[in-house]
Amino acid sequence: MSKPILCLDFDGVCHSYTSGWKGAEVIPDDAVAGLFEFLEQAAPHFEIQVFSSRSLQPGGMKAMQVWFEQQRSKWLAEGGQGGEKYTISFPTEKPAAFVSIDDRAITFTGQWPEVDFLRNFQPWHKARPPSANSKGAGRS
Ligand SMILES: [Mg+2]
Repeated sequence: MSKPILCLDFDGVCHSYTSGWKGAEVIPDDAVAGLFEFLEQAAPHFEIQVFSSRSLQPGGMKAMQVWFEQQRSKWLAEGGQGGEKYTISFPTEKPAAFVSIDDRAITFTGQWPEVDFLRNFQPWHKARPPSANSKGAGRS
């Protein structure tokens, strides 16, 4: 029986993207913390597919594949507890995913968002952390 597809965006979800865009074939940064631990948990339940704006650009898919191999090896070398190796696929079209994880999307609730909310949207890695002395500090 086939597993439901979990679609992951690449930049800002798998790739930490701290250096910003350097070209479809250039992936300079490490994985977002916890990626490979997450994949260990998700892979038994989902078919993992990575779909990115890189997917259709020359060299982009190969660069993502190589990056995943290298980053997982690094994670294992640093003590990551990897079980049986799972497959990650790299479709060239947006897959019919059961659910997707993307740093630049919001969940549509049936209620259209305020345009100002969209205009001011910040992905998690660009959002300014709340300052330590702001009201509401203390939440973790
Ligand atoms: Mg992204």
